Amino acid sequence: TGKRILNFSAGPGLMPATVLATAAAEMSTFSQGHSLMELSHRSAPFEKLLEETEVSFRRLLNIPSNYKVLFMQGGATLQFSCIALNLCAGANAGTKADYIVTGAWSQKGHEEAVRLLGSDRVNLVVNTKSSKHNGDIPPLSTWNFSDKQSFVFYCDNETVHGVEFGSKFPFHAIAKDVPIVCDMSSSILSQPVDVSKFGLIFAGAQKNMGPAGVTVVIVREDLLVASYKYPQPFPLMLDYSTYATSHSMHNTPPTYPIYLCGLVFKWLETKIGGLIEMEKINAAKAACLYEAIENSNGFYSCPVKKDYRSRMNVTFLVKGDFEKEFLAEAEKNGMIQLAGHRSVGGVRASLYNAMPLDGVQALVSFMKEFASARF
Ligand code: PMP
Repeated sequence: TGKRILNFSAGPGLMPATVLATAAAEMSTFSQGHSLMELSHRSAPFEKLLEETEVSFRRLLNIPSNYKVLFMQGGATLQFSCIALNLCAGANAGTKADYIVTGAWSQKGHEEAVRLLGSDRVNLVVNTKSSKHNGDIPPLSTWNFSDKQSFVFYCDNETVHGVEFGSKFPFHAIAKDVPIVCDMSSSILSQPVDVSKFGLIFAGAQKNMGPAGVTVVIVREDLLVASYKYPQPFPLMLDYSTYATSHSMHNTPPTYPIYLCGLVFKWLETKIGGLIEMEKINAAKAACLYEAIENSNGFYSCPVKKDYRSRMNVTFLVKGDFEKEFLAEAEKNGMIQLAGHRSVGGVRASLYNAMPLDGVQALVSFMKEFASARF
């Protein structure tokens, strides 16, 4: 089969090679001589698979029993709408949804909340747009929280700008009874998190979990019961309760993406050894690449402030006019999808869980050679 291409795509991102091999082997004979794709979601084998997938996910993240895990569709983008509509707590007049904007995705979340709820129900706590979302996050003392909050929204890892909060998010600044809502699309399962700090976590699958087509939501049970839904009547398939009460089986769930997520969870548990191990590998990968950038005498430079540099999406610039040539040469050397997001340009190397350390080392060797030939 030859050597695998090194795929630095920001998403859909690469999958572990062993997962793809298992999926290929089981493609047409998952159960009783047919593929999983051809299996009823109401069949016993699929129900078992869904159950095992959820159990494995819960084990990996150590999810407390008072949280539901929902398998939804519509991508992370639909969650921007669902969150505003399910959690705006319309019955509690005077509450506002607080948004922390540190990049393109939290900005989109905020825009959708304003569109659906109106600007008088939504508050911008902080916005780094004026510094081009470069991780120059103003001190907490300047953050403008609302007096009566329905929830606080933030994005853990900004995929486009390469800005990550991780454990630096100021959880202590938010009252215990205010749900914290987090977009973890591009950082979920990259390290352990304390789920009990959150009201709701959501993530599209296509970076660290599986293929596009399923979005995983972790939501504290009391938020399902207490929330007043707006508008009335409320669309059934936007209502978290619909998924919670039916085990995500109100209608046909995305069966094949769920199956692949299950294989990735198994890979994390058995081949990697859980999220503490995954975190170590991810830290080593990110350190390797950021060090190469820092030690390049300015040939490469990272626009993001040090404190909030992402471990998952490393953004950097190439000196002079060499960017196009860099991308073309990288591709010739088997390293693909390194172009930055179309809105910001530059180079972006996404180092999701499935990217091995030696893949990053190969990129770093190439970067050194490319720079020394042109300096
Ligand atoms: N949030 C983040 C952090 C993302 O990286 C993305 C996708 N790149 C989205 C939301 C939107 O996801 P989707 O395309 O699945 O709607």
